[in-house]
Amino acid sequence: MTTCIPAGSGRLHCRVRDIKGQGCRRTSWIASVAFSGCIQKDFSWSHGVSKFLQIQRCNFSPSPINENSKTLRTVTSSSLRDDSTKFFDFAVIGSGVAGLRYALEVAKHGSVAVITKAEPHESNTNYAQGGVSAVLSLSDSVESHVQDTIVAGAYLCDEETVRVVCTEGPERIRELIAMGASFDHGEDGNLHLAREGGHSHHRIVHAADMTGREIERALLEAVLKDPKIFMFEHHLAIDLLTCQDGSDTVCLGVDTLNTETQEVIRFISKVTLLASGGAGQIYPTTTNPPVATGDGIAMAHRAQAVISNMEFVQFHPTALADEGLPVQPTKARENAFLITEAVRGDGGILYNLDMERFMPLYDERAELARRDVVARCIDDQLKKRNEKYVLLDISHKPREKILSPFPNIAAEGLKYGLDITPQPIPVVPAAHYMCGGVRAGLQGETNVQGLFVAGEVACTGLHGANRLASNSLLEALVFARRAVHPSIEHMKFSSLDFSTSDWWARPAVPVSLESNAIEKILAMTREVRKEVQSIMWKYVGIVRSTTRLETAKQKICVLEDKWEDYLFQMGWEPTMVGLEACEMRNFFCCAKLVVSSALARHESRGLHYTIDFPDLEESKRLPTQPARTHPSPPREEDPSPSSLSLCPVLQPQETRKGTPASSYFPGWDESKPGVNTPNSGGPEGVGAFSGQLRPFHDERKDLRTRITI
Ligand SMILES: Cc1cc2nc3c(=O)[nH]c(=O)nc-3n(C[C@H](O)[C@H](O)[C@H](O)COP(=O)(O)OP(=O)(O)OC[C@H]3O[C@@H](n4cnc5c(N)ncnc54)[C@H](O)[C@@H]3O)c2cc1C
Repeated sequence: MTTCIPAGSGRLHCRVRDIKGQGCRRTSWIASVAFSGCIQKDFSWSHGVSKFLQIQRCNFSPSPINENSKTLRTVTSSSLRDDSTKFFDFAVIGSGVAGLRYALEVAKHGSVAVITKAEPHESNTNYAQGGVSAVLSLSDSVESHVQDTIVAGAYLCDEETVRVVCTEGPERIRELIAMGASFDHGEDGNLHLAREGGHSHHRIVHAADMTGREIERALLEAVLKDPKIFMFEHHLAIDLLTCQDGSDTVCLGVDTLNTETQEVIRFISKVTLLASGGAGQIYPTTTNPPVATGDGIAMAHRAQAVISNMEFVQFHPTALADEGLPVQPTKARENAFLITEAVRGDGGILYNLDMERFMPLYDERAELARRDVVARCIDDQLKKRNEKYVLLDISHKPREKILSPFPNIAAEGLKYGLDITPQPIPVVPAAHYMCGGVRAGLQGETNVQGLFVAGEVACTGLHGANRLASNSLLEALVFARRAVHPSIEHMKFSSLDFSTSDWWARPAVPVSLESNAIEKILAMTREVRKEVQSIMWKYVGIVRSTTRLETAKQKICVLEDKWEDYLFQMGWEPTMVGLEACEMRNFFCCAKLVVSSALARHESRGLHYTIDFPDLEESKRLPTQPARTHPSPPREEDPSPSSLSLCPVLQPQETRKGTPASSYFPGWDESKPGVNTPNSGGPEGVGAFSGQLRPFHDERKDLRTRITI
């Protein structure tokens, strides 16, 4: 099969060829006669751009992470100042545990760009407190970990995935330790294993209450020492670069914006790993740092990747409530400070502001009930009593038994005049973890060729409807590792040339806009961002209803139209990009995915609780899957320039090719956003939506077939 795709002056032929001895076929990109030979000969993929950098980096001394990364930044941005396109074997988007762990492995086989939107350590990983779960004691078993995960996931987990993760977990922990991560040990000299809610054994490996920071430190140090890995910090991934091969979408890299120099940098890569973490920031109160704006999920959605289970947003019951602190922080925090559930596990008791213990009224397990149950109970107390926070008290424990396991929490309290040893801690629930994401097969593969996912951005089937505590770092470690082999295979059989970089129109920074217009756009965007967060909290929070979800749908769509109209009135053009605008676009996308998925689930399961369908229903035990953006790929025999698709950057309303509201919500009238009512919907009227329930296994089999044929 050959598909000819016009690309500037050259043509590329996409062929499916047999791979000898493997009994399988693989799609490969082969330069046509006009280009072949010279390009293959002259351009060494692995070292084309990176050779100079390698020479520069030889001088690095093993100094602390921050200094090292600063030196690296100087090198990358100065030496490549005129180079707006970079070629790598592997592009890794995200520098949390998933991205870094993967980068370290694939670097043994080619050049790697790690692209990250802020400082390299800024990630959810860096904030993880409790630890990583793994079966590491003789009294524990993989079977027990599997069962705990499936029960927590409300039986929506993919059992094969759960088994794989629980089986491979211990080896992944040993590898981390070999790389220099240091975890707490007990008096017997063995790893100290903590126990958390939902786990029937002690199996949480931890570094005090700063486990994520230790993992990030160890991995980042290893990455910065690796001459094959190049860190591009302050590079915001804007969109994946995709093209169409018959009915398959192929990923060939990513466009980024260097937010320090305001340059658009294009990365062309044989393989791309999306490891961009979660989307907690779509809620106003979240434990996630500002980088967690759901960019990866939105980019993947625009690139036609399958997205799944977005209704399952985990709210952590106990984040520090600033309103209740003796000394108020001078500046509002960007992300809420987490009070790990190990505090409840260690005997912490929840009280309302009248010092009435309320958990036993709701659940016989009291404070040790599951995370989602505790979050709902706190939510109920706050609403009924019209209060802003509840209190978590651990003061009945001896002082040293509080300070030893929770030094970080104690220190944070002291900053604001709170001594947690004699005083209760003010807490509120906060958005914490996104169980849904880009649907992945057992090797991190997606339905987009050349695009792999790992970590929180992925929906592997491990968490089902609710994540078991400490299973996410584990999932990231396991899938980052599993994605390595198929990535290398894909890389070996891909050959791209320089002309690839001209296939897509380039996004541009808004240099033509006056600073006054830019300031107004920024102010408007910040305001709209807050409004979306507030809608999500009010209508798509811990306890949901169909009416509230429909209201959210209505408000979000109207707000998005208003925001886009404003930008275009101010002179914004369709190809323009900026940090806030790109994040805002992704915010809208993720918010709509959560709402449409929540509307699709007519039952209460795991993290999704709706008063209109309060019970579990066996017939609904299926993952949700919102409609994809471009349902009909171009016909093979009629290749047209549109078959090379840069995922559309924001465009004016008349010509906008972005994802219309109707693609999330059928029946939505694009031309009359004001007249759409909460009940505007498809043939089913109220509650109609584009989200669908699909069996997990069938879909994944399809993904695996694609990757291995
Ligand atoms: C406060 C807190 C405590 C937690 N505690 C635990 C725990 O005890 N145990 C556990 O298992 N899990 C815990 N979690 C969850 C866990 O930390 C995360 O799920 C996990 O670290 C995700 O890793 P990741 O590599 O997928 O993503 P992240 O660590 O979030 O990394 C994502 C990376 O992608 C980058 N990025 C995002 N968008 C872009 C873009 N557009 N362009 C370029 N780069 C981009 C970010 O800057 C970041 O570097 C906790 C989370 C939080 C917030």
